[in-house]
Amino acid sequence: MKKRIGLLYGGKSAEHEVSLSTACAVTGALNFEEYEVYPIFITLDGEWRCGERLEKPASTIEELQFGDDAIILENNITKFLVNESGEAVKFDVIFPLLHGTNGEDGTVQGLLEVLNLPYVGNGVLASSAGMDKVIMKQLFEIAGLPQVPYTYFIRSEWVKEQEAILTRCEEKLAWPMFVKPANLGSSVGISKATNREELKKAIEVALQFDRKIIVEQGVVAREIELGVLGNDFPEVSVPGEIKPMTEFYDYDSKYKDGSTALIIPAELPTEVVASLKEQAKRAFKILDGSGLVRADFFVTADNDIYINEVNTMPGFTPVSMYPLLWQHTDVSYPELINRLIALAIERHEEKQ
Ligand code: ATP
Ligand code: MG
Ligand code: MG
Ligand code: MG
Repeated sequence: MKKRIGLLYGGKSAEHEVSLSTACAVTGALNFEEYEVYPIFITLDGEWRCGERLEKPASTIEELQFGDDAIILENNITKFLVNESGEAVKFDVIFPLLHGTNGEDGTVQGLLEVLNLPYVGNGVLASSAGMDKVIMKQLFEIAGLPQVPYTYFIRSEWVKEQEAILTRCEEKLAWPMFVKPANLGSSVGISKATNREELKKAIEVALQFDRKIIVEQGVVAREIELGVLGNDFPEVSVPGEIKPMTEFYDYDSKYKDGSTALIIPAELPTEVVASLKEQAKRAFKILDGSGLVRADFFVTADNDIYINEVNTMPGFTPVSMYPLLWQHTDVSYPELINRLIALAIERHEEKQ
């Protein structure tokens, strides 16, 4: 019997468009002999619209954006299990292709848990812990993973004690500093500060996106990323290097000007690669990851390693780092998708 798969894409986040391209590519890689593919589109306003079963891969993202006449699932999660003709559809697996808020932060994962549906990728805990850069760093600390010095605070503390916070940053961290909203991705709201005045501005910018802010010491280093794939016994890909042509790997270089070179595999001494792989696995384990994560590191000229973050739903188009890392590790894009679906089902069965 064919497996029924629900592709969940779009969403209210800044990465809406990226998610649509991903969904388009995933329909192209799924074997329609093996899967019945149902598209579930989340609009920018957050409305859930279910399309008819796909007969073939989508050729454009427009095909995947359903209008007002589509079945609206909002505010009625039980309809999630009902198809366009009103009959019950029990999905075998849901593939969330969502990034950021309400996508990779554990909220959608919680919904799918409640519905008792198998889904691809990380569970509630790993997703939410991986979304909050402060919690993530605290877990990395427990796992003994080296990271750059940092400090953090919430908006109400900033309002009350601005000067004290600025002083704390200066005492604890060396310039330049990176200021980040704790709960975002794609470099949104992140800026680099080289003095107190810039730091203040950077904090005001970040506060527009989140009530919790993290300030990190900047490091001069190469950016190396590894893919982790699996459940209880994860495998790690070859490392890849990002060479941003801009001052840092900001939103525009990620999605707009394409001015970033990806070098796979990254050129690194064997023992550095071994250490990176071991640390990527440790990061996955401390979060209790499942399915996939992309672990991002800084590697200095002296080959000192600092973990920057993990992403629990990394960019997943065929030209994104995570799929490319696996392609160079002999796992093609269609094969990667099959593996992730199998892992989702395995994890669900273990829970029962
Ligand atoms: P994504 O999830 O898309 O990878 P993000 O929004 O979670 O990104 P980070 O990866 O933490 O953000 O930071 C974005 C970029 O900013 C990094 O790829 C790097 O270029 C730069 N950067 C962040 N922190 C530091 C740091 N401490 N020192 C030097 N550069 C940094
Ligand atoms: Mg991130
Ligand atoms: Mg992210
Ligand atoms: Mg990153």
